[in-house]
Amino acid sequence: MENQIRKIVVENAVLHEGKANTNSVLGKIIADNPKIKEKINEIIPIINKIVKEINSLNLYEQKSMALKLKIKEKPKNKPEKFKLPQLPNIKIGKVVTSFPPEPSKYPHIGHLKGALLNFEYAKKYGGKFILRFEDSNPQLVKQEYYDAIIDGFKWIGLQWHEIDYLTNHMEEYYKAIKTLIENKDAYICSCPQEKIKKNRFEGINCSCREKDSKDNMKDWKEMLTVSEKGSKILRMKIDMNHNNTVMRDPTIARIIDTSHIRTKSKYRVWPSYDLGTSLLDSWENVTHRIRTKEFELRKELQEYILNKLGLTSPFILEVGRLNIKNAIIQGRDIREGIKSKKFSGWDDPQLTTLVSLKRRGFVPEALKEFILSTGVTKSESVYDWELLESFNRKIIDSISDRYFAVLDPVKIKILDLPKENISIKMKPGSEIERNIPIISDEVYISKIDNESLINKKAGLMFLCTSSFGEVKRFVSKNINQDIQKIHWVGSKNIKIKIMMPNGKIQEGLAEPAVLNLKKGQLIQFYRVGFCKVDSIGKEILFYFTHK
Ligand SMILES: [Zn+2]
Repeated sequence: MENQIRKIVVENAVLHEGKANTNSVLGKIIADNPKIKEKINEIIPIINKIVKEINSLNLYEQKSMALKLKIKEKPKNKPEKFKLPQLPNIKIGKVVTSFPPEPSKYPHIGHLKGALLNFEYAKKYGGKFILRFEDSNPQLVKQEYYDAIIDGFKWIGLQWHEIDYLTNHMEEYYKAIKTLIENKDAYICSCPQEKIKKNRFEGINCSCREKDSKDNMKDWKEMLTVSEKGSKILRMKIDMNHNNTVMRDPTIARIIDTSHIRTKSKYRVWPSYDLGTSLLDSWENVTHRIRTKEFELRKELQEYILNKLGLTSPFILEVGRLNIKNAIIQGRDIREGIKSKKFSGWDDPQLTTLVSLKRRGFVPEALKEFILSTGVTKSESVYDWELLESFNRKIIDSISDRYFAVLDPVKIKILDLPKENISIKMKPGSEIERNIPIISDEVYISKIDNESLINKKAGLMFLCTSSFGEVKRFVSKNINQDIQKIHWVGSKNIKIKIMMPNGKIQEGLAEPAVLNLKKGQLIQFYRVGFCKVDSIGKEILFYFTHK
């Protein structure tokens, strides 16, 4: 046994710059031999002794000992790019987290932070992650949005153990509301909205507050059946002078008399956000929740509600929201923009919805890395698009084949240009090549390049050096390092369109090999940027990813 332990300790020491760690040695021993757990108390002193002994040697001595013990040196693990900070009150295997989108719009990059952190924490602690639809507003909820959230999160790689719906719990809500009314913790208010607002501001109680439980129950039954929308609301009875204005007898249920996609017209009174979310946390047995801090002031109310019902709150970690400069993220703005044709749809390239990012050629790994790189902190920052792009570029640069396309092309003639097929590698280091046929001395280059090169020499990448005088003339097949290199397309070419991030289409010409591309493929056009193939057929359309 001692010999086996010594081997593991030496291996561990060599791996960690000469310092073995008792816990990781113990972990390895248990992993190799799970039964040893029963004798753990006998083993630990032995490990400690050997760790002390080995750690007193220098790395050179440890390495020669490893050689003697026939331990192969392992390559070091790559350092993890990001580590989640520990959460309190953790029981491994018992952690439950939840992420609660409202199915009232398509998910965008801002939603991902909360979703990803709840998912990652459940994974880290071997727990359960619940995707919860807080679908309590029948006027906004649509089947399309439930589907979009599921598709978007699946695309990112989130996995959930369970999908829950607020609408599955309506009977439980009604039961909880009855309890609150019976215990005089809630009352039905029939005051006009303006008066409620004014009273809340000035800290004045209305007479509804003084009703007894019996009258409130009667009003509640009317709310459930006949009351007109807006004529009655259910309010929590707390304190109209509370410092936290959220606590001034907030609305916890209201009538929305619209058929719900899931429950049709079965229910007409709907829980507010605070009642909805806090009870679901409890009913789902959520132990930890990570959410953005705009809900900070509501935490007190949510805990108050749970407390009145004898339920406990999960641990809540608040993190700063992720904002991208100039991103349009409000569901209402997007819905209206689609209606007015400002956006072509939820996947319009001007938006930061996941469907838009996907269509443009952002990859899930880049989004994940970008979001986790912003950290688990309360501080709120506004990030530039360029940062997200740099994460994406790092990943797609090595997988994208490179092609020639020219936007805003002008035709030039290069005198004496040899007519031949030229072979170009698909990308640097690639074994595969394709041909570009040069069938005439006509070549297309971008208008800007043409204007800036007057009376200069330039290299047409992989083709030749040409002079740009009054008459353009072939100089040599070689291209010197020190002259400007430009992209080009031969006279045999294909018309293409590129959807730009501003939602406008640019037309151009591309080399014939683009006809072999597949829908969804990511490529780079030299000096133009990365693009994703959107359609190959009658029309050849790309979506511009980024430079
Ligand atoms: Zn009232």
